[in-house]
Amino acid sequence: MIWQVYITWLVILGDGLATTWILYVHSSTSVAHVALLLTALVCLTYYLAIVKPAGWAPSAEGSRTLDAPTCQKCRRYKPIRAHHCKKCGNCVLRMDHHCPWTDNCVGVANYGYFSRFLVAVELATGYLIYQDCLLIHGIYASRNVPMNVFDWTRMEFAVLLCVSVTSAFVFMTVGLMTYRTLVNAAQNITTIESWELERVRSQVTRGILAPSAALFPYDLGISRNLKEVYGESVFSWLFGSTNRDGVSFSLRPGSSPDPWPPQDPFEVSTDPYYSDMKTKREVLYNYYKKDQWLNDDGENIADFGVDLSTE
Ligand SMILES: [Zn+2]
Ligand SMILES: [Zn+2]
Repeated sequence: MIWQVYITWLVILGDGLATTWILYVHSSTSVAHVALLLTALVCLTYYLAIVKPAGWAPSAEGSRTLDAPTCQKCRRYKPIRAHHCKKCGNCVLRMDHHCPWTDNCVGVANYGYFSRFLVAVELATGYLIYQDCLLIHGIYASRNVPMNVFDWTRMEFAVLLCVSVTSAFVFMTVGLMTYRTLVNAAQNITTIESWELERVRSQVTRGILAPSAALFPYDLGISRNLKEVYGESVFSWLFGSTNRDGVSFSLRPGSSPDPWPPQDPFEVSTDPYYSDMKTKREVLYNYYKKDQWLNDDGENIADFGVDLSTE
């Protein structure tokens, strides 16, 4: 295990159990029980997000033959939407990103587990913050009562402030990630692909790629997208994962059967326009190279765990 995982366990258990204790002492037993239950839910979903495999690509050395290139590093098939993860050392199907906080890749097989962990964190911290606010409001309301009637010890008060700040911080930071994860699922796009899409759109704006390149081919409409990512039934949404194999994908009507994103014309086209651009406009050519380009959030594709030498 890496340090991020220890830190996460420490925050989940520390924040959850300390708040539960404060609620036992200063709120009702049922409120404390709900806090404890939500903490347990976060622990369970976190454990599953760590241990559930992301979905490794099939080995190219087995009997199975696939119409997909072979990765030079792990000797597995590398179908569309798969990437070689630098941390895991394998090609991951429909790779979303490598998450340092779960020390696991997020891919086709565990996207649901990862999403449920994030949602559980938001539910739990949302509830804890609400209860913390009620307690703080109660303390404020009793600010004029004599000190000998005031039933909070310094220690309890310090713990309340500590857990309130921690819960609020976690709620906001994980909230951004949760939003991004769910919105991406609704569009059937991975974190890596949304980075690619930004890059492609920028190239379209510059006239380097045709406008059709910016049409994301796996977006099948919200309802179909969510079923592709999380599975067909309510059961799979709540407990399981998608039944997709991560090797072949449905395309939206009218989209090109060619792999997306399109290869950079600088690299593949024989058109003199591009070879000219490669030499005369070297700055622009370098700007869009996969190992150079940064999206609006300043992220490079390597930030998601992708091994650039295999792209
Ligand atoms: Zn690989
Ligand atoms: Zn990985």
